[in-house]
Amino acid sequence: MLRSMQPFNYLRPSTLSEALKLLGDHGREAKVLAGGTDLIVGMKEKGLSPRYVIDIKGIEGLDGIGYDPNEGLRIGTLATMSEVSASSCVREHYLFLAHAAGEVGSVQVRNRATIGGNLCNAAPSAETAPALLCLDAVLTVAGPKGERAVAIEEFFRGPGMTVLDGEILTGMLIPPVERKGIYIKHSPRNAMDIAVIGAAAAVTPKEGGWENVRIALGAVAPTPVRVHEAEELIRKKGQTKEAIEEAGRMAGETASPIFDVRASAEYRSEMVENLVIRALSELCDS
Ligand SMILES: Cc1cc2nc3c(=O)[nH]c(=O)nc-3n(C[C@H](O)[C@H](O)[C@H](O)COP(=O)(O)OP(=O)(O)OC[C@H]3O[C@@H](n4cnc5c(N)ncnc54)[C@H](O)[C@@H]3O)c2cc1C
Repeated sequence: MLRSMQPFNYLRPSTLSEALKLLGDHGREAKVLAGGTDLIVGMKEKGLSPRYVIDIKGIEGLDGIGYDPNEGLRIGTLATMSEVSASSCVREHYLFLAHAAGEVGSVQVRNRATIGGNLCNAAPSAETAPALLCLDAVLTVAGPKGERAVAIEEFFRGPGMTVLDGEILTGMLIPPVERKGIYIKHSPRNAMDIAVIGAAAAVTPKEGGWENVRIALGAVAPTPVRVHEAEELIRKKGQTKEAIEEAGRMAGETASPIFDVRASAEYRSEMVENLVIRALSELCDS
């Protein structure tokens, strides 16, 4: 049901320090606005009513995507899903991240939705989170006391909750480690629906095996999660059929799936197992 939006003060700072000052001044009454595809829906339909909306889109330096062989892949928080999915840097180095961004909503949504907003909204189903977890992304966060780096695994605290405390996510850096990966979105509808399960896996191929095995899931726990036990198993036993099936079972067991209108907990657990097996098997074949 569409409710009417409560009046709010729209603020459009032109610098990061101005934005942080506004955030500090207005505290919990303020919300940061990036693409608005979550925030505005929340304000229109879910009773969210910030008194101050701080639009960060006019701040220079928060967008852009670039790759440096020594530093890695840097993505500004305001890079849109369309930009991430089309970026030659992303596609060349971490194609599965481009695929994940390309799974979000529709073209219209992707043209507005930012990668930073996807993480800060902290939905368990956040589409880019499993791929970024597999890539060991390090998030850069600016606050009144300066800038800090947060490993993506430390970023999520629960549904809709992050470690941000009066801070603004400015971007992320993916270390320059060679990886091949895969992201599989499972959703009963083909388009315009969030993931019922998102499963990502990535590895660094080396002679005779894999290094840096990563398996991460979305929409099956209060936050996007990595499945360390399953990663460890593949590291120890290698990418045999048996090890892959065992890793799938572990992922199914470690997930603590939610029950909602989209799928039951049992269905999600079973699908997690299947998707992880599929992801690892496809990596073997690729
Ligand atoms: C029709 C539709 C379909 C969708 N489909 C999908 C889907 O398939 N998969 C999916 O994952 N999502 C989906 N979404 C959700 C949404 O598009 C994404 O989560 C999007 O990436 C959010 O980015 P945004 O820039 O629009 O964030 P906003 O709505 O601007 O912000 C989201 C939240 O993050 C905070 N925030 C944003 N940027 C920052 C920052 N830099 N620092 C601190 N806080 C910040 C805001 O205060 C707000 O709380 C869909 C949305 C719609 C409307």
